[in-house]
Amino acid sequence: MDIVTRPRILVVGAGFAGVGCVRRLERKLSSDEADVTLVTPFSYQLYLPLLPQVASGVLTPQSIALSLRRSKKYRTRIIPGGAIGVDLRSKVCVIRTITDRIVNEPYDYIVLAPGSITRTFDIPGLTEHAFGMKTLAEAAYIRDHVITQLDLADASQDPAERASRLQFVVVGGGYAGTETAACLQRLTHNAVKRYPRLDPRLIKWHLIDIAPKLMPELGDKLGRSAQEVLRKRGIEISLGVSIAKAGPEEVTFTDGRVIPTRTLIWTAGVVASPLMATLGAETVRGRLAVTSSMNLPGHDGVFALGDAAAVPDEAKGEEGAVCPPTAQHAMRQGKVVADNVIATLRGQSMKPYVHKDLGLVVDLGGTDAVSKPLGVELRGLPAQAVARGYHWSALRTNVAKARVLTNWTLNALAGDDFVRTGFQSRRPARLKDFEYTDSYLTPEQVRAQVEGAGS
Ligand SMILES: Cc1cc2nc3c(=O)[nH]c(=O)nc-3n(C[C@H](O)[C@H](O)[C@H](O)COP(=O)(O)OP(=O)(O)OC[C@H]3O[C@@H](n4cnc5c(N)ncnc54)[C@H](O)[C@@H]3O)c2cc1C
Repeated sequence: MDIVTRPRILVVGAGFAGVGCVRRLERKLSSDEADVTLVTPFSYQLYLPLLPQVASGVLTPQSIALSLRRSKKYRTRIIPGGAIGVDLRSKVCVIRTITDRIVNEPYDYIVLAPGSITRTFDIPGLTEHAFGMKTLAEAAYIRDHVITQLDLADASQDPAERASRLQFVVVGGGYAGTETAACLQRLTHNAVKRYPRLDPRLIKWHLIDIAPKLMPELGDKLGRSAQEVLRKRGIEISLGVSIAKAGPEEVTFTDGRVIPTRTLIWTAGVVASPLMATLGAETVRGRLAVTSSMNLPGHDGVFALGDAAAVPDEAKGEEGAVCPPTAQHAMRQGKVVADNVIATLRGQSMKPYVHKDLGLVVDLGGTDAVSKPLGVELRGLPAQAVARGYHWSALRTNVAKARVLTNWTLNALAGDDFVRTGFQSRRPARLKDFEYTDSYLTPEQVRAQVEGAGS
């Protein structure tokens, strides 16, 4: 029997932060220095910023799902499943495997990078009727759903049904919601040419946000440019407005308007993974409160980063400022956290995470885009070149780069396709079905699970 005497490093989550950390550990640690294990429900790292392009069919799903096993120094043990609780006292992580088995995984060092889930509110009908834009399955499903609405509207003889199938509502004016509305509107705009019985004027996209501005990070001028582009394309933008209630065939806005629609896409922000609450430690709006070295105060060997952690934003220099939940930060924090795990392991001192924001890129589909790299405001084609160039270079594997470039080229030359791939089942799946938010344990259940296994 193989008796393990090496320190055990457990990384939870294979997103930007988790994979950034694992790859660095594999590169910098020799295999007899420590064992590295990764817990993840999926066998890929999802490049989330390009998800709206999967929803609109510009990119195929597998082109942004980067295999975890494609790496020169790959030697990590991967547990297919999700962490559902962490017991800090006994240093055990409770995992639900993809076959629904509950296992206790002991660790010496733990890196928590499970990211975030869609933030929802207590709005009647929301979780039952809205789609999110957070997983590959959701993006692929939404694409099928939108094309299905065109097919069914085309076949329907009932004007009311047609009108409701051709209206689409996206909630959330951040980059995720804005890009989603922009990319999908472009898809339906191009698709309708292939549906001669449909009146293109009936297709209506609504983008709403309770905030007074779209993407405030862009600044006033660039934000207004993005709005103008979207308005010119016929997207109706309503600010200071949210959803009062959602039903299967209509959505009521807080300003009293009732929109007949079968498509509600909810992207109104994210909240840290429910895993963080199982630790019973201090959180800042759900994100685990960590030091600038990303370790949990009072718990050597426990680290958290990315969307799941409130990492002080040292580059901003403002008291209490934490890094925003972006891929840019998560990716870079992954490397620093790996260095800090190694430093702790070797008895050296840790370093703080400091990174100045590089700016924002927003792809609005086709040649429309706005971006602000290093504070420079760009619009149209130059902004699109920067947006695509940035994402392309940030893709971790060469095969993903090749797939994405091929898809972009093909889409530019041959245009969109409007094929349903058959994800539409009889029972429609919605927000609550994709993110498994009801799998997590309470801190008391974690304790009982760990003690039960030990007795
Ligand atoms: C549509 C969209 C567009 C975006 N565009 C941009 C952009 O243009 N620029 C930008 O900087 N940011 C963008 N973001 C935000 C960015 O994607 C996130 O900030 C980033 O992914 C956070 O990285 P992370 O590693 O913390 O989490 P993720 O990348 O979300 O990774 C978390 C991983 O953990 C896994 N996981 C979840 N729960 C568990 C569990 N219990 N146990 C084990 N594993 C678990 C998940 O499956 C996932 O693989 C966008 C986000 C979305 C949704």
